[in-house]
Amino acid sequence: MSAAGSRPPLSEPSQQPEAGLPPVPTCVAVAVDTPQHSGLSGALSYRSERPLTPGTLLRVPLGRREVLGIVWPGADVALPVTPAAADTAAPAQRDAFAQTLPDGELARSERALRPVGEVFDALPPLPPAWLALVDFAAHYYQRGIGELALAVLPPELRKLDAPGLSKRLARLIKKLDKLAAAAAAAGSTAAPSAHDALSDEQSAALAAFEAARVQPRPAPMLLFGVTGSGKTEVYLRAAEAVLAAGQQALVLVPEINLTPQLEARFAERFPAHRIVAMHSGLTPVQRLQSWLLAHLGRADIVLGTRMAVFAPLPRLGLMVVDEEHDPSYKQQEGARYSARDLAIYRAHLERVPVILGSATPSLETWQRCEEGRYQRLTMASRIGGGALPRVRLFDMGVLPRDQALGAKFAVPVLAPLVLQSLRERIERGEQSLVFLNRRGYAPVLHCADCGWKSGCPHCSAWRVFHKGERTLRCHHCGFTERVPRACPDCGNLDIAPLGRGTEKLEEQLAELLPGARIARLDADTARGKGNLESKLAEVHAGEVDILVGTQMVTKGHDFRRITLVVATNPDSALFASDFRAPERLFALLMQAAGRAGRSAEQAARSEMWVQTWHPKHPLYTALKTHNFATFASDQLAERLSAGLPPYSHLALLRAEARDVEVATGWLQAAADIAASLPGAAGVVMYPPVPPSVSKVAGIERMQMLVEADSRGRLQRLLSDWMPHLHAMKNAHRGLTRWAIDVDPLGI
Ligand code: ADP
Ligand code: ZN
Ligand code: ZN
Repeated sequence: MSAAGSRPPLSEPSQQPEAGLPPVPTCVAVAVDTPQHSGLSGALSYRSERPLTPGTLLRVPLGRREVLGIVWPGADVALPVTPAAADTAAPAQRDAFAQTLPDGELARSERALRPVGEVFDALPPLPPAWLALVDFAAHYYQRGIGELALAVLPPELRKLDAPGLSKRLARLIKKLDKLAAAAAAAGSTAAPSAHDALSDEQSAALAAFEAARVQPRPAPMLLFGVTGSGKTEVYLRAAEAVLAAGQQALVLVPEINLTPQLEARFAERFPAHRIVAMHSGLTPVQRLQSWLLAHLGRADIVLGTRMAVFAPLPRLGLMVVDEEHDPSYKQQEGARYSARDLAIYRAHLERVPVILGSATPSLETWQRCEEGRYQRLTMASRIGGGALPRVRLFDMGVLPRDQALGAKFAVPVLAPLVLQSLRERIERGEQSLVFLNRRGYAPVLHCADCGWKSGCPHCSAWRVFHKGERTLRCHHCGFTERVPRACPDCGNLDIAPLGRGTEKLEEQLAELLPGARIARLDADTARGKGNLESKLAEVHAGEVDILVGTQMVTKGHDFRRITLVVATNPDSALFASDFRAPERLFALLMQAAGRAGRSAEQAARSEMWVQTWHPKHPLYTALKTHNFATFASDQLAERLSAGLPPYSHLALLRAEARDVEVATGWLQAAADIAASLPGAAGVVMYPPVPPSVSKVAGIERMQMLVEADSRGRLQRLLSDWMPHLHAMKNAHRGLTRWAIDVDPLGI
């Protein structure tokens, strides 16, 4: 499968019977969005009066509706020429069809096939590599092909008919041609911005990239660079090389918030090239337009979040996955794909280089580098020679506790030494960043008289106290009420918040540091259009002394004046039941540290304070020396001895029901079936357990972990198992939902 597949020109219909010959009716496979519970996972068969190229978009009847579909490779079987097929029977399934078609049957099924509807001839067919990617993803993540294929197309496409799409395309192309003509008339004045000289490490990384690029099968590359080492510059230069060769680049970022910043950097560097964004923040029409530009080969760079991994790109020459370790690359509903993993597969499929960038790579990626399957490019120093901030641990255990309460809550929010560091920053006109991974004012309200707590009536979770709004809000189901004036159970007027969220932290900082200009950034304050941008602009403009927030503040932003980062209470992740919690914490703290001292002259004064009850924990020891490699090898050793990924392969089967017994029963029955399958050997089924929040919006959840020693073995079992699971659903009344999560992130 080659990267530079040629396309028929736009004006030409994708395929037509040769002139003079009578059209030959054909059986075509079409991927349509059949709901997963229908159990139809392949493409459906339809009758077409002419052959259609796989990848062609069209409309087909499905039940009583007409839906968007994609011609899929497979059953391209010529049918005997007879009068038009009847339009009655249900569609047959592709595989069964292609495999078992003796002549008599052919005639029968030919009668049964429904004819395709409008064909979107104006649009070039989706390229074979795209079809192969979707096919792989659907099988790997155990979803229907059509379900996945349609889910990753821009939703707006479903609303258009063929003339509507043709018109839109014609308009788009006219606009592009006009723009191109105007640019040509202006005599391409748009010069790229001047280049800085590369650091030695950047040069070495690029040389390795150039060498990989000409390989017949470039291995994935990990750009392992500390924050501020100039990774983005490497992406820009790599993209430049690819663009100069007439190819397209696909750049993935974890967070939609980071796209405008990166887009600006790319736009400045490549003024003569078209860059499009692809993320869920676009309007449906913008998203369609970006997609069309990518697919037509009229966009040179696509920059987007995980969904962009499915952007059709006829001239793909490079993929970049920035912050490859970030959990947001994993889709958390529907087909739970990992865009990072799919990017690697796509790179393999299209034989193009993929650069995974991170200061704290995922252990999966790190392990593959250790095995030599990925090439590791290391950039250990910051641009301009600045040091990484000094990491200081504050042992919270040495602080006096308030004996009366006897709880950790009575310990001051900030240790005196840490508070002093904040004061010094304010005096010097520098900025600080204080983070706490919990939004709201307090995680729970509490009545000391009767013990009432602000639980959510619909979930097994507390409702969070939001002081500014005077509400109690459940962060799981959204259930919100005004704060009661008195305890709902005993009438006590004195109900108090327990614990601390960012809203309270902000309030306490204001009390402790009068006159300090404090801004808060979390999901609550970032809500609403433009709020996030204006907050960030304030910070950049130096109008803020202290930025308080959740992990949102630690990601990517190139704050220039921050010289102090404070992690107020990160310990909980050390003992979380999720085996990936330490990996995430380490990444989060390294990333947070990276926000400080980004300008070299301040680097020497930069520090990060970590307030902890466990200053001797090995994670913190590695953090103090910024030593990811040590941390990674410790963690990998633990994972090896516990038989956890990357040394084993996991899937999580989840079930939901109003009654917990139903969910458990279903999982148990599923386990019994799995045990009887031929692929069960070497696969371990763990007993069903509730997830950390077991009830949400009145629905009980249970989950069951499936573990195999090889990916292939897990895949074999899952694909044998799936049809049984689909069939089983009806036998368990009350089961509201089930889903399989392959390579789950949170367990
Ligand atoms: P990272 O993505 O690794 O955190 P960036 O690419 O954002 O690092 O680079 C950090 C800063 O250094 C940016 O402001 C960038 O413009 C600058 N920079 C990168 N490479 C160079 C270079 N070779 N010379 C001078 N400045 C550079
Ligand atoms: Zn009470
Ligand atoms: Zn709730």
